[in-house]
Amino acid sequence: MNKKIIKNCDLLSFTKGKAEVLTGQDILIEGDHIQAIGTSGSLEFEPDVENIPADGLLAVPGFINTHAHVPMVLFRNLAEDVTPSVWFNDYVWPMESNLTEEDVYWGAQLGMAEMIENGVTCVADHYFYMDEIARSIEESGMRANLAWAVFGHEGEEKVDQTVEFIKRWQSKADGRITTWLGPHAPYTTSPEFLAMCAEKAAENKVGIHIHVSETVAQVKLSLEEFGITPVKLLQEAGVFEVPTILAHCVFPQEDDLDILAAAETGVAVAPRTYMKHGTGLAPIDQYWERSIPFGLATDGAASNNTMDIMEQMRLMTLYSKYKTGDPTQMTMEQVVEIAFRSSAKVMHMDGKIGELKPGLLADITLLRQDGLHATPKANALASLIYCLRATDVDTVLCNGKVLMQGRQLLTLDKERIRKEVQSRLHRLSQRVPGARIAYYPA
Ligand SMILES: [Zn+2]
Repeated sequence: MNKKIIKNCDLLSFTKGKAEVLTGQDILIEGDHIQAIGTSGSLEFEPDVENIPADGLLAVPGFINTHAHVPMVLFRNLAEDVTPSVWFNDYVWPMESNLTEEDVYWGAQLGMAEMIENGVTCVADHYFYMDEIARSIEESGMRANLAWAVFGHEGEEKVDQTVEFIKRWQSKADGRITTWLGPHAPYTTSPEFLAMCAEKAAENKVGIHIHVSETVAQVKLSLEEFGITPVKLLQEAGVFEVPTILAHCVFPQEDDLDILAAAETGVAVAPRTYMKHGTGLAPIDQYWERSIPFGLATDGAASNNTMDIMEQMRLMTLYSKYKTGDPTQMTMEQVVEIAFRSSAKVMHMDGKIGELKPGLLADITLLRQDGLHATPKANALASLIYCLRATDVDTVLCNGKVLMQGRQLLTLDKERIRKEVQSRLHRLSQRVPGARIAYYPA
């Protein structure tokens, strides 16, 4: 069995029930998992084990991106300073009608290269032509939950095609790929369509990844049209009979919180997208109080501009303190709990990822701590949350395999990706009147 040892790192540990940074640690990896962690020099291992020197580096669990549309990096910076309805109807959905399978593949390659550079090892992705994204996950070495986004107007036949995708890719790429169903949202489907998806998800023993309650207008529209909130609508359609990832859920009503607390669900929170669209942050203090898991997400780069999950962590913290007017809110221990263990719960992978301890999968990000912006080295948690940047990520492992070392990507070809994506920009950015993949009603 392939063994590696990460030598003499600092390490973010949750083993005492609370986050702390231990210094001078070694991490022994066997195959895809962490075999042992101990004070540097204390672990026993064979002499031929691959050595990864990590003096001064901080080891954290691989960052988790709980909701993305990875190939939307193709549309980065193309829909700025607009309302959500203009964003969808006049920019993103017209431009997405230009996409080919090959475009999606190269968009996925770019998004994954960017995520690995940012220390992300696991992503929940929701997009189209998902075979291309699965292929890219296989090549990049990352871990993913993949859901093929379907609109109501595409009908049951399209859902059945995505069930075939689920079967083709479930547990593939050495177990790194999980496949779910991905009906787009309550505002782009019907209650009957969602009920049909819930049934098929249950039949195939998979979960559902879906957008819900992103804006006040969406909640209002649902109340006018159906007399219930979007979350209640999902419940009545049977969606919560299976595990779910809810993208955003920024505006749950009081009764919705009871539904969420009782469901096997997690909420993906993308602070930068909300701040940019002027919609505000989900009531994460209430999610926390009711033990409703929530995690960090970038959403797509057409709204977020980057795939930088560390920035989402920082914005979530700062926005919470600002919103409550209480700087004692959102403590550092809480922030890292959300970024790692709670994000793993949103992925329905707690006990497998989100923590560095023996028996868990070896998804590990090593960060430099010697930048001037992190000097002096006084408080490692504060440094991780408020000082370190995505460019401080030095080395990334997923499933025990090294994906980046010394900032050199080992699985993806950065120069080729840059060329392929740039050459597609002109064609993909065309907006042909009337050509649009769906209509945003809210
Ligand atoms: Zn989304």
